[in-house]
Amino acid sequence: MKKIYTHENRVILYNIKNLLQAAGIETRVVNEFAAGAAGNLPAFDTWPELWLEDDDRYEDAEEVLRQILDQRPGPDWYCRGCQELNDGAFQVCWKCGRAAD
Ligand SMILES: [Zn+2]
Repeated sequence: MKKIYTHENRVILYNIKNLLQAAGIETRVVNEFAAGAAGNLPAFDTWPELWLEDDDRYEDAEEVLRQILDQRPGPDWYCRGCQELNDGAFQVCWKCGRAAD
């Protein structure tokens, strides 16, 4: 098996897993519960990891990953409700919950 992705946030990791699965690529999550048991150890060593079930799909998986990760968030934007500046990665205002226009 080959490791194709790792992220500190397992929600994001599972999102990637689902997208790969939708493309017909099976993966396995490793280290999923290590972070909780690690206490004060450096977090990076215990990030959950995504491993490929079938090494033959590595190039396919890389292509899917590249497409996912290439989706750059838009520019920062100001909320029309409360004038708060929001990061381009967010679709709704972090402060008042209003959707971006
Ligand atoms: Zn707002």
